[in-house]
Amino acid sequence: MRDLIQLLPDHIANQIAAGEVIQRPASVVKELIENAIDAGADTIQLLLKDAGKTLIQISDNGKGMTKNDAIRCFDRHATSKLKTAEDLFALTTKGFRGEALASIAAIAHVSLKTKQHDQELGNIIEIEGSKITKNEVTVCANGTTFSVKNLFYNVPARRNFLKSDTVEFNHITDEFVRIALAHPSITFIFTNNEQEVYHLRASNLRKRIVDVVGIKTNDKLVPIEESTEIVTINGFVGKPEYSKKTRGEQFLFVNDRFFKDSFFHHAISKAFDGLIQPKHFPSYFLYLTIDPKKIDINVHPTKTEIKFEEDRLIYAIILSSIRQALGKYNIAPTLDFNQENSFDLPHSMRNQPAIEPIIKVDTNFNPFNSNKPSSGSSSANFTKAIHSEGFGAKEVTPEDWQNFYQIEEEQPKNELQEIEFENPIILEKSFINQGKYLFTPCKSGLLVIDLPRAIERIVYDELMVKFVSSPIVSQQLLFPIEREFSKNETSSWLENTTMLERLGFKSTITNQTMSLNAIPTILQEESIHICIDLILENISFKEIEKGDIAHFLILSIAQAAGRKKSKANSANENEHIIEQLFQCPEHAFTPTGKKIVQTLSFEEIALKF
Ligand code: ADP
Ligand code: MG
Repeated sequence: MRDLIQLLPDHIANQIAAGEVIQRPASVVKELIENAIDAGADTIQLLLKDAGKTLIQISDNGKGMTKNDAIRCFDRHATSKLKTAEDLFALTTKGFRGEALASIAAIAHVSLKTKQHDQELGNIIEIEGSKITKNEVTVCANGTTFSVKNLFYNVPARRNFLKSDTVEFNHITDEFVRIALAHPSITFIFTNNEQEVYHLRASNLRKRIVDVVGIKTNDKLVPIEESTEIVTINGFVGKPEYSKKTRGEQFLFVNDRFFKDSFFHHAISKAFDGLIQPKHFPSYFLYLTIDPKKIDINVHPTKTEIKFEEDRLIYAIILSSIRQALGKYNIAPTLDFNQENSFDLPHSMRNQPAIEPIIKVDTNFNPFNSNKPSSGSSSANFTKAIHSEGFGAKEVTPEDWQNFYQIEEEQPKNELQEIEFENPIILEKSFINQGKYLFTPCKSGLLVIDLPRAIERIVYDELMVKFVSSPIVSQQLLFPIEREFSKNETSSWLENTTMLERLGFKSTITNQTMSLNAIPTILQEESIHICIDLILENISFKEIEKGDIAHFLILSIAQAAGRKKSKANSANENEHIIEQLFQCPEHAFTPTGKKIVQTLSFEEIALKF
């Protein structure tokens, strides 16, 4: 029988390896900048065309390569950074696998120009699909320039998998920012399609963070410094009042390498416990320095996960150093850990017997009796509210309720069918508004409505209908609202300006500061910031089909309208909301599929007793 096994030719093996190392233009950018840093460069230039799809060029003034190295660097497992297996446990360089250049050369057209500082002339090598097509002596600057063209030209599946220029550009910016933040002493210049994206001069850490994240950041940073035998921590956390609704500014580095770690992230969030609002995220830029023997960066091919030998101890050190820093800068003056469970009583009140609080109860109060207000009690206010004409709502008559249930009957079967609407006897216009939820009796029990979600559905449907026929009416803001954007946010916002305008957002952007002059009338001013956060969250990293952009933007507005923290609604308002909700064809679920309405049946209620 014939032997079947043969070794894969190098170019195929490289192509397969490339699949792991190079997923998109951003991976090339990361690998090449890291090589430049390993080569000791203090100035690195990144130049892109079409978000890297046409060209990625990285030039450095590092040590350069000899002629032989310039050829050998494209071989698989060719590295100058590891000599023995032991080196693997004490890495001080970014690279060590010797895979990046071999992978890139297998799936793109690559040109390399390189010259060592003590040489007169340099060399130029061109390589396409792992085959060297040019190898000449040339005049060039000290250092190394890699140009990568037509990425994935021979892997159509990968090329087709690439997202829009904006999305790819955002991924590149993310990688770039992570590296730039880790190396403040290196000058970085980044241009895309001849437009300068970043020009970061060598400086200290604080200045670098401010240059990258935005000038207003400076006042928001609290320095962290802690030196222990296990780990040294420095960097900054954002003051709690500047916490954000998105996770944008969270950076962890170890030995100048960006990494992600949910365990340490938890330690940081815990340090902020009680200082920031729920669902907000603290900003942080934390740099750990640790003996390389005590970490393993070999866990993940793209190396953003790292194993720590002493992770529990590091957790505790991170937690305490941030708490201390927040305390020191008077941001958390009450953080006195010995007193956690005691109360600070004024001196005059100490040693006094405790007085039981008295709760006043109106025993006549019946929220379901809407007909005869008895004056002077809280029930009077309640019933008055039901009959008042606030909120611009028309007086709702019993017939309206009939209609409302008829609409329901016409609906196709869905989970709401279990709620029996036919019998209007149950329909007293009575509600209990418990914060987020609205309770109202129905024939089979109790109807529970998630108010924010109901509003989300109503606003979404309303805007969708209006938007299709004409631009959404907008209201001019008396004072424009300013927001500082990251590069990614700026590019995503600019890309969608036309659609945003149609939806009522009139804005201008200068130097990453977005100034909002008008908003859709449906949005209240206090929800604007939430809305901007949601828009950015919804459009920045998703590959959105052209036809879907309106959906995502309208969804953001609807979610913001729903999340607005409002005072309790009047009964009339509640009634109006329910009425509107049940007119929406999909009233049982939000546009993202979350439940809006639930019934608690009498049986379920009975089980509770
Ligand atoms: P690794 O970085 O893991 O060693 P790479 O494939 O990225 O593997 O690079 C292979 C080798 O090429 C490096 O070890 C280094 O010796 C050389 N090299 C790559 N880029 C540069 C550069 N910009 N300047 C000098 N040498 C470089
Ligand atoms: Mg490398």
